[in-house]
Amino acid sequence: MATIIDGKVISAQLLEQVAADVIEFKAKHGITPGLAVVLVGDDPASQVYVRNKVQRAEQVGIRSIKHRLDANVSQETLNDLVAELNADPEIHGILVQLPLPKHLDEDEIVDAIAPSKDVDGFHSLNVAALATGKPGLVPCTPQGSMTMLRQTLDDLTGLHAVVIGRSNIVGKPMAALLLQANCTVTMVHSRTRDIASVCRQADILVAAVGSQKLVNADWVKPGATVIDVGINVEMLDGVRKLCGDVDFESVSKVAGAITPVPGGVGPMTIANLLANTLQAAQAQMSA
Ligand code: NAD
Repeated sequence: MATIIDGKVISAQLLEQVAADVIEFKAKHGITPGLAVVLVGDDPASQVYVRNKVQRAEQVGIRSIKHRLDANVSQETLNDLVAELNADPEIHGILVQLPLPKHLDEDEIVDAIAPSKDVDGFHSLNVAALATGKPGLVPCTPQGSMTMLRQTLDDLTGLHAVVIGRSNIVGKPMAALLLQANCTVTMVHSRTRDIASVCRQADILVAAVGSQKLVNADWVKPGATVIDVGINVEMLDGVRKLCGDVDFESVSKVAGAITPVPGGVGPMTIANLLANTLQAAQAQMSA
């Protein structure tokens, strides 16, 4: 039976560290790190994510300011808000909750955020920094997944990591981080041929697809470390339940270690958002 990589425990450790560092930051600079969270419209999942982020921020001593905009807000109004937040010295991190309503240009908004305040790490300059191994703000979910891998495996050097999914927010930055950690990295996606046989070669298997229980035991090499990023809703006896991209029941019998859903990567994402906010505040104070 696989070891369970407990995201609640590991994220609690990280949050404790961030809270201690925030106290030190306040003592040193006499100001509180500030995070602005922008929510457009009333998508229920986004509302839950934003509420959790704001609550956690307060718990570690980061001031969070929520800006809620109407679903039919214009691009110009949203751009103006981001410009205002960019110029505000009390705001060190800006997060625009995605996805945005269809009439808004996400790429434009992401690139309108000052790179130094881009705590999601999605700005083109931060993406370029990650790709070229330069310092910058790194997307929270892959960063959290790496922390889990480092706590589970002594050394990642030379291990074969397979990442399923090639999105800009998870798959691609995950592959970049694994490469930086000296893994041999393979990316597979919806057009990959014989995906199961590629995944079976993985020492580290990261699933970031959004497809319920796609990865079964036949895809997994015995003893592999499996990180399940997926968040899917399944109906079990008429009850809504969260499940990942990995069939936990069968894969946990084959893998060496595995993250559960919920309670795996999810809590790490928020913890890293707050770590990024502090990192952004520290960088802005020393700029
Ligand atoms: P996305 O839809 O942007 O990308 C999905 C990727 O999966 C695509 O690159 C696609 O090529 C690939 N794909 C689709 N079908 C496939 C298949 N049958 N076989 C192999 N590859 C396939 O999704 P995303 O934003 O990267 O998110 C992926 C999942 O991770 C979602 O369930 C999302 O909810 C979840 N997620 C979780 C967190 C967290 O904090 N735990 C954060 C972000 C995303």
